[in-house]
Amino acid sequence: MLARRLPGLLPALSFEEAVEATSIWSVAGRLNPGQGLLPSRPFRAPHHTISVAGLVGGGSPLRPGEISLAHRGVLFMDELPEYGHAALEALRQPLEDGEITLVRAKDRATMPARFMLLGAMNPCPCGHASDPEPDRCICTVPAKESYRRRISGPILDRFDLHIEVGPLRTKDFLGLPQGESSAVIRERVERARQVQRRRFARHPGLHCNAQLTGPALRKLVDASEAARARLARFIDEKNLSARAHDRILKLARTIADLEARDRVEEKDVDGAVQLRCLDRPVRGGPGTGRLTSLQLARNAALNRAPGASPGAILREGT
Ligand SMILES: [Zn+2]
Repeated sequence: MLARRLPGLLPALSFEEAVEATSIWSVAGRLNPGQGLLPSRPFRAPHHTISVAGLVGGGSPLRPGEISLAHRGVLFMDELPEYGHAALEALRQPLEDGEITLVRAKDRATMPARFMLLGAMNPCPCGHASDPEPDRCICTVPAKESYRRRISGPILDRFDLHIEVGPLRTKDFLGLPQGESSAVIRERVERARQVQRRRFARHPGLHCNAQLTGPALRKLVDASEAARARLARFIDEKNLSARAHDRILKLARTIADLEARDRVEEKDVDGAVQLRCLDRPVRGGPGTGRLTSLQLARNAALNRAPGASPGAILREGT
């Protein structure tokens, strides 16, 4: 339920984006007779038993997979560790390139696949590691680590945000104040995107922070010395990759954009680190310790159905 709200928070489809997405749906034979352009960003939620061809495309003749049907929209993978290893690994290249090249016998086709990937997983095999009563989780630390390892490092590295969404009892749920509407949040996102478009006006092909990589990212993100030093310290302490460094810097840039500030400060780095809970090691055995619930996760829970998956990881893509 929470995942399905995501397309409503993203900027409206531009005409060009709508044409691209509709073309793919047309090639896949998914449009109803007489249907015009797709009216909103696609939301796709394939089951974890999906084949590699179903996910990335394939068959004869070649057909687009779910990642292309989700082009310019959201691909939601619930119970992420349950997807086949081959299917998860097949996402690596399209997540980097925004397209997939399919080769089958004599056929070869390159299809667009620029989507926001949203995954959900339990915090541990028994699913209770985030419960307010810590004794409910019966998992050992090795069992928790093994569960996390079902998502390979390279795939995990490609997610910008990891947010823990704790369980919510009905009485808490009913007592929470009404959250912001999707329309209000979307306005804030649109304003941040405008700032980003102005920033990248002289850089063809760039229009939002999600597209920044490597040298361009470090050059175009204006961060204070203190913010850069704080980030470097965190990366060293946690022994994280250069890719994780860039993801956190990019996220800090987006946090500053949402608050209409030109320069990334230490508090933006702190905020970005808080939105990446899987960078922290697994803690606690049965009945001990759990990851701290995050304020954002709490806010997100306002729109969450009781019983939905407690963890969510998110990749910027559109
Ligand atoms: Zn557990």
